[in-house]
Amino acid sequence: MPLHQTEAFILRTYTLQEADKICVLLTRDAGKLRGVAHGARRLKSRFGSSLEPFTEVSVTYFQKETRELVSISSCEILHSPFSTTMSSELLGLLHYLAELVIEFLPDHEPNDRVYRLISAIMEATAGATAEQFPALARYGEIWMLKLGGYLPGFRRCAECSSEFLRQQSVWLTSDGAPQCAGCSARRGEEMNADVRLLLADLLRQSPKEFIEARRETGALAQIGSIAGRLIARALERDLKSILILDQLRPKVEAVPGS
Ligand SMILES: [Zn+2]
Repeated sequence: MPLHQTEAFILRTYTLQEADKICVLLTRDAGKLRGVAHGARRLKSRFGSSLEPFTEVSVTYFQKETRELVSISSCEILHSPFSTTMSSELLGLLHYLAELVIEFLPDHEPNDRVYRLISAIMEATAGATAEQFPALARYGEIWMLKLGGYLPGFRRCAECSSEFLRQQSVWLTSDGAPQCAGCSARRGEEMNADVRLLLADLLRQSPKEFIEARRETGALAQIGSIAGRLIARALERDLKSILILDQLRPKVEAVPGS
């Protein structure tokens, strides 16, 4: 049985029988994996607190070629989000991000960009306040959509390919594709220049930079509702943890004239 060692984030854990845990891991080298940590539920477990969600660990595991589950032999904490005070808002955000990764990423497919995304978001949570969590959630959603190939381009009209001007509004089809005023006949959800600019910032900046700038709540909420629809469409259902996160998602104000 070959032995592997890699850095990983613990995404989720489940109880398996009396003493064991199943962990879903986002590893740097092998992508998303499911593994068994034998004896992890015992009081004096060699895993200690290394299996708490979103702890970054150095993990060693065995993989049998015929087995779906790997066998985790050791886990060493590299970074723990629990070293700072863990609020329920932060916990809600982390569960939501974990669900996004679990749902979007297939098992056993290395994806360095997703790993680096989660790493950068986790770094940004360290000094963030609860007011900044919605911006981090939007950052995670939009980037998971983009890395999964589910984010439409917002620079050109999806119909006539004309490039949008900076101050222009665009209109979204029910699929979330942006169209110019002419092609859409101004039907569909209007996305004004401010919202488009915010989205461009999100795709250009690091999560830390993105949450440090002052953000207009309404524009951020609209990005959230657009992302929510694209996610539901990509996965063909809503995510469970979005219910918890709804309190982090300010309601979109009605667009005048709609
Ligand atoms: Zn057009």
